[in-house]
Amino acid sequence: MAIAKSNILCQLIALFVAAQLRCSLSCGSRTGYGARNPGSPLMLYQCVPDLLENSQAASGPAKGKITRNSPEFEKLEPCYNTAIIFKDEEGTGADRLMSKRCKEKLIELASLVKNQWPSLKLVVTEAWDEQGQHSKNSLHYEGRAVDLRLSDTYKSNPKLALLGRLAVNAGFDYVLYESETHIHASVREDSYVDKSKRTGCFSSESTVRLENGAVLRVDHLKISDRVQVMLQDGTIGYSEVIMFADYLPNIPKVSHILIETENPERKVTMTPSHIIFTRGDSLGSKLTAKQASMVSAGEFLLISVDAKRLVPSRVANISVVEKTGMIAPVTMEGNIIVDGVLSSCYARIDDHRSAHLAFAPMRIAYNYGFRAWNSTFSAIQQGMHWYPKLLIQINNALGIHKLS
Ligand SMILES: [Zn+2]
Repeated sequence: MAIAKSNILCQLIALFVAAQLRCSLSCGSRTGYGARNPGSPLMLYQCVPDLLENSQAASGPAKGKITRNSPEFEKLEPCYNTAIIFKDEEGTGADRLMSKRCKEKLIELASLVKNQWPSLKLVVTEAWDEQGQHSKNSLHYEGRAVDLRLSDTYKSNPKLALLGRLAVNAGFDYVLYESETHIHASVREDSYVDKSKRTGCFSSESTVRLENGAVLRVDHLKISDRVQVMLQDGTIGYSEVIMFADYLPNIPKVSHILIETENPERKVTMTPSHIIFTRGDSLGSKLTAKQASMVSAGEFLLISVDAKRLVPSRVANISVVEKTGMIAPVTMEGNIIVDGVLSSCYARIDDHRSAHLAFAPMRIAYNYGFRAWNSTFSAIQQGMHWYPKLLIQINNALGIHKLS
């Protein structure tokens, strides 16, 4: 039995690796993260995510100024990375001081900059600020924010827009193309434990529609229930729930992104890293899969208007709300219509197709296993399912995808 189990595990891993290799090959050579297309440059004054800096889904609230006398000062770390130029205009070394998380992201960004522009260096013009030069609740006072530019020019540098995107890719929790001279980037506090980083989930009160027409809360869903999804041809159909990637129906106060659309109106909530499908316009442009925290007002979501059709509906408002529960049903189809809005079943990477491919072994296991071992397959675990846990471990060990 033990041999059989480890055999299955090996096969799963082989399948996963094969799936990832296929993806990597189709994405081009991988000589480092920067060799990939970094994504679209930021526009002047654009921030990512499109939220207030101090909101929970961005860098979170300010915790209070750190002075040289406060106990927290000891926790600030100096950064001496040689790929980074520190302006240090105060001459006190303050610009080298920052929180642990901020330093990690900064070093990651420096390597992305090096990949993108081998002859340039990342410049930090401001990090921890002890002189009160920023606005009242600035994260610079806690070493959680940096102001950035490149070593070549000072003003109106078109490369700054791409530097902003690289800062997002490096993992800063909030990035703002603040002025023509610099990018401002900040992070959450070091002690912050993000419940939403487990997997991407819906709240317990989110609803789905079953094939028999019933509307069910997701915490009442069972494995093998057939729920509304989008089929390959773009129409609405039904697909079986094969597993729950995460199942914590009673966990309180989880930060969810609330996305409200207009004409027709819909409201959907999901944790920030959950993937949702958007379009740039209402005219049938390509569907893009992105994390909920990356959705902007003015984009379009697909919503169900009747039993057959999905239509685009414009995003009017995005905010952060607290909800109870983290539940992530995974369907055979890989997508699910929740609260009338088309969403992916996956989270944490921004590539829906790779995620769906990575779950292929679970679909095969469900197909062959559900009838034979019905009781084993229909039990819902508490917390994260072992399979996504395994995927995350393999992914982190091989450094395949950057998880958020
Ligand atoms: Zn700043």
